[in-house]
Amino acid sequence: MFGLLSNELRLEILQQLWERRGEALSFSELQSQVAVRDSGKFNYHLNMLVPEFVRKSEAGYLLAHAGKQAIGTAVSGHFSDVSDLDLGTVSAGPCVLCEGTLEAQYRDGEVSVDCPECGELIARMPVPPITVASITPERLPEVFSLHLLTLSRQLSRGFCKLCHGRVDSKLTALSPEESVTHHPELNVRFECRACGDETNLNAGAVTMDHPAVTSFLFDAGIDLRETNVWTFDSILDPETKIVSEDPLRLRLVMELDGAELVLTLNESAAVISHERRPSG
Ligand SMILES: [Zn+2]
Ligand SMILES: [Zn+2]
Repeated sequence: MFGLLSNELRLEILQQLWERRGEALSFSELQSQVAVRDSGKFNYHLNMLVPEFVRKSEAGYLLAHAGKQAIGTAVSGHFSDVSDLDLGTVSAGPCVLCEGTLEAQYRDGEVSVDCPECGELIARMPVPPITVASITPERLPEVFSLHLLTLSRQLSRGFCKLCHGRVDSKLTALSPEESVTHHPELNVRFECRACGDETNLNAGAVTMDHPAVTSFLFDAGIDLRETNVWTFDSILDPETKIVSEDPLRLRLVMELDGAELVLTLNESAAVISHERRPSG
């Protein structure tokens, strides 16, 4: 597939079709948009894209699904220079580990949230430039939180963030040297069976998709879509414990309004039991 797109003229064709937002273009219209005089050369490259990336219909040429995906990835900014996108340092709310105020930053294609007071890195993740290019700086933490939740949902439901192949998830609690999270026990690694892509996420964030968690939060008046995910202490919870090493079992506790939700995760970071009880 990448060989087929390894030509600037072909990418240019996809981009011209993408910019028309679903409007079909005739051969000559498309050729004049791309500004290639040599019809033979243009025809050759256009035909290389049909039918996988470009669909030929009676009305003209249109983007096929794979063409939209390919140009969408290019347009989202993964391939463009991101060094000049500067949103500065933005407050991201109180730190649950100390009295400090968290700071969010966008740098070199990644958003990070950390605490200058206690020095803790709360979250860091690549975010496509297109996601942050159009927002005001104050919205960076909120948009980043939504992005994290979306990614975590996609992965915990078993889909690769790059190729949509199936992923396997694993608690990497027993290898703390690889951990990217505050507590090594909380690290979940997702690995794609198709492309081999690896993502590490916090187990607390991964469980946010479970109905027991969303309903627990909702009953306490919290809509997860409107709350920065790092404000929940279960993500950084000192009460997190490995309750068994063989088989591997992790216990997470989330506390809100005098109630706690206790979750047990297996070695694949799936919630195998949950219990609500009064906190004490
Ligand atoms: Zn702190
Ligand atoms: Zn993949």
